[in-house]
Amino acid sequence: MVAVPVTREREQQVLTTVPRGLLIGGAWRESSGGRTFTVEDPATGAVLGEVADASREDAVAALDAAAAAQGSWMRTAPRRRAEILRRAFEIVTERAEDFALVITLEMGKPLAEARGEVVYGAEFLRWFAEEAVRDYGRYGPSPEGTSRLLVQRRPVGPCLLITPWNFPLAMATRKIAPALAAGCTMVVKPAKLTPLTTLLFAQVLIEAGVPAGVVNVLPSGSAAAISGALLPDPRLRKLSFTGSTPVGRRLLIDAAQNVLRTSMELGGNAPFLVFDDADIPAAVAGAMAAKMRNMGEACTAANRFLVHRPVAEEFAAGLSAAMGALRTGRGTLPETQVGPLIDAGARDDVDALVAKAVDAGAVVSTGGRAVDGGGYFYEPTVLTDVPHDAEILKEEIFGPVAPMTTFDTEEEAIRLANDTEYGLASYLFTRDYARMMRVTEQIEYGMVGFNAGVISNAAAPFGGVKQSGLGREGGAEGLAEYTATQYVGIADPFAMPGGPGRLG
Ligand code: NAP
Repeated sequence: MVAVPVTREREQQVLTTVPRGLLIGGAWRESSGGRTFTVEDPATGAVLGEVADASREDAVAALDAAAAAQGSWMRTAPRRRAEILRRAFEIVTERAEDFALVITLEMGKPLAEARGEVVYGAEFLRWFAEEAVRDYGRYGPSPEGTSRLLVQRRPVGPCLLITPWNFPLAMATRKIAPALAAGCTMVVKPAKLTPLTTLLFAQVLIEAGVPAGVVNVLPSGSAAAISGALLPDPRLRKLSFTGSTPVGRRLLIDAAQNVLRTSMELGGNAPFLVFDDADIPAAVAGAMAAKMRNMGEACTAANRFLVHRPVAEEFAAGLSAAMGALRTGRGTLPETQVGPLIDAGARDDVDALVAKAVDAGAVVSTGGRAVDGGGYFYEPTVLTDVPHDAEILKEEIFGPVAPMTTFDTEEEAIRLANDTEYGLASYLFTRDYARMMRVTEQIEYGMVGFNAGVISNAAAPFGGVKQSGLGREGGAEGLAEYTATQYVGIADPFAMPGGPGRLG
């Protein structure tokens, strides 16, 4: 990828390529009420542009289009669907610099990280292009031998896909690519804070050959109006949601009225366990990746550092030095390593959690304050001696703050790791493979990073247990989420009229 220097002219030029309307039935249009909402740069608060604001009526029109396209899309050859996905992968990769810049402008992450998101997000297109032609069923005799069992996977039908603001490209491709591969049509609702990346991606899908009505995109300032219109509609067959646990819980209740298939990728509270036999410099490097990716605004972000007492001082010193050396700034600047948080509310929430932890006895090893000036910046922060019952260890921090606490035994480490309602990502640093297996088999998490601070991969099943959600995205499992299993019982061909009859 060739890095293009970012000037204000370049920013404006890229922003002018982003569609600003609703994509319904293959055409860009204004919202039915003509309303728009603004999108801001969190590094400066400057307005990046206006986007059409979808209403309830627009949602129904989008589902009309998705339902009308469902029959032909599911009958489109899997190879053709795969080729469209592959083409979308190629276009996103060719335009990686544009995508990275739009992500940085509306979401705030440094360009280097935005480039990483483009590679990760595009990989879902390539992976599901490859999976689209491998959606196997099975066939065989019944145990009695008196019939045949045919099992096939069929597209689940029109889907509502709701995405969050923290990875505006990857969270969209992680849902859209498997839905397309499986033969489903869809209505996509991006987060109102970051709709531009999804709109740019929708344009790529059209260019790649996705037929009209298959993908409909509705930016909206009133998310509940969209879900409220669509979840009770009998034509909708599936809801896939990525976002916070409280909103996911609310949507599950609504989806239950229509007995919808659901995939729920919700919040996390990842423990990062460091044992006394760990390679401490490697653990610090892993901690930096697990904590600081996306400024800590990731569901997989290490939220609690649980460190074996004999190595706690060494680990804290290494982590504090690395965190204290990071450069904060607007994501478009080449020297920036930490961008702003998404908005003032997010920054104030992080600040309040830190203040309460300090009141409860935590010690600020580095950082600990919001950064003065424009934008919503917060200093990379390490807190040591955090009491086990502090609120900051229970809440999803979603910011660049690493609270640390200690444990004395493996048993205590496991108990502390499981002491949360969440169960998404977890991290484990040890050189002892037997310990790795013991701990892994006792912690209640959908994902474990073993001596690894970044585990997201398009080929792996991503998802959580407990209140972190239902279902998996990525891997072969990601395709299965968009299919319904159909069983066909076939009479014994030997016993059919004209057959030789069954022996024995
Ligand atoms: P959020 O507030 O729950 O919003 C997520 C999406 O849901 C947005 O598109 C939002 O629209 C929409 N939404 C909000 N209220 C709704 C309602 N009543 N009905 C229908 N849709 C509604 O979460 P967020 O702040 O964007 O994202 C951060 C959260 O996402 C964190 O908890 C993080 O852990 C989680 N997350 C999880 C994963 C995972 O894979 N498990 C990945 C990334 C993020 P608006 O933008 O218009 O509010």
